Amino acid sequence: WSGLMAGKRGVIMGVANNRSIAWGIAKACREAGAEIALTWQGDALKKRVEPLAAELDALMAGDCDVTDLASIDAVFENIEKAWGKIDFVVHAIAFSDKDELTGRYIDTSRENFARSMDISVYSFTAVAKRAERIMNDGGSLMTLTYYGAEKVMPHYNVMGVAKAALEASVRYLAVDMGARGIRVNAISAGPIKTLAASGIGDFRYILKWNEYNSPLKRTVTTDEVGRSGVYLLSDLSTGVTGEVHHVDSGYHTVGMKAVDAPDI
Ligand code: NAD
Repeated sequence: WSGLMAGKRGVIMGVANNRSIAWGIAKACREAGAEIALTWQGDALKKRVEPLAAELDALMAGDCDVTDLASIDAVFENIEKAWGKIDFVVHAIAFSDKDELTGRYIDTSRENFARSMDISVYSFTAVAKRAERIMNDGGSLMTLTYYGAEKVMPHYNVMGVAKAALEASVRYLAVDMGARGIRVNAISAGPIKTLAASGIGDFRYILKWNEYNSPLKRTVTTDEVGRSGVYLLSDLSTGVTGEVHHVDSGYHTVGMKAVDAPDI
């Protein structure tokens, strides 16, 4: 698959460190021959993202906190100045107050509900709108979701509700952008130990549960999500849009605990 994305340029939002899913996707796209631009959130993360960008010869496209729409504008203006046009966008951004990623969903505060929806859902639409202006026909957008959108997962709470809304956004955006051949899809990744995931209550239990009960009997890696990302971002998937593609060792297909699963 080397050369599969040669000549394509895209922006990847959501690299925090080398364990980020966005980093797995960035590496895979680069390996497939694409040119990459990265954004970061704040000065502390810039220090982590800078050396990673250097590894991939990536453009440092700008500091972007998605709650500040002007910073999203600025990123796409910077990219337009540097490149003119883009071919793909990856949105790997989510946030909830971690005090509400434990216990009961019913206790979600109005403030955290609104903030989680703004950062984890609306931002994808805000990014899509700005990307559309400079995107070549036939481009591809992708976001990251989780099975907690479809089924209730312990502690996932408001993020499950946010991911359900994000998946609906994927379908609406796919229709809005489809006339120009621009595709919009999501990868529903299995649990992976990242910075964001460490905020979820009992995350180690969730990892073990998936390992024991998924058809492949293991969890997935960011590199695997990255390679599936190459499929959705490249011309391999020109007939695919509005789709939520599971990269989760098949976990979403099983209906109950495996008979041979050990106790956790
Ligand atoms: P991560 O902590 O590496 O990445 C989360 C990113 O979100 C960070 O780069 C952070 O800077 C960014 N972010 C948060 N608030 C932001 C804001 N206001 N403005 C701009 N950026 C902001 O964790 P990750 O697990 O790689 O998360 C990436 C995506 O993958 C998220 O959407 C997450 O929900 C999703 N996902 C993760 C898992 C998992 O188990 N790790 C599973 C399925 C889906």
